[in-house]
Amino acid sequence: MSSELFRISAPPSRDEGGRAERLRAAGLKATAPRLAILGLLETDRTHPSAQAVLDALKPEHPTLSLSTVYETLEAFLRAGLCRPVAGEGALLRVDGTTHAHDHAVCRQCGRIFDVASNLRPPLKPPSSLPEGLAVTGVRVEYEVVCGRCAGGRGARATHRTEASNRRAGAGAAGRPRNPKR
Ligand SMILES: [Zn+2]
Ligand SMILES: [Zn+2]
Repeated sequence: MSSELFRISAPPSRDEGGRAERLRAAGLKATAPRLAILGLLETDRTHPSAQAVLDALKPEHPTLSLSTVYETLEAFLRAGLCRPVAGEGALLRVDGTTHAHDHAVCRQCGRIFDVASNLRPPLKPPSSLPEGLAVTGVRVEYEVVCGRCAGGRGARATHRTEASNRRAGAGAAGRPRNPKR
């Protein structure tokens, strides 16, 4: 196990043999649910929740349960096969995209979009933060109104880092939102 939290360990594969190899390289046995969930994460760009993963796989994998999905996602997070996404609310959402990128989160519907990091100047985080937190990377999250929610009025964006989100506390981030249904 050479996995490190939040470190993406292997490039995506597009076939089952490649996925089995990715699982083994991450120290995980290639079980059927893991192969199915990894395959979904390699192509799904919506940053799905565990429930969304289950909904997407249920037709082809009728015996899959929500608890299996949760356990698998947690194992993938520990192994660096996916990353947690700070979306709206407390729900865990995961990102199977393996390249470094930023996110734009719609403040109205909660949809999460991938944004190339080279649209902004590079950020140089401190090597450590208070309370012994070792910094392994920096991600920027844009707060946006997506085109669908703006109804054609065009999206506007404010720029913030995850650290500044926390400092902002209950500001804009604490506003109630319409859950995505
Ligand atoms: Zn939206
Ligand atoms: Zn992403």
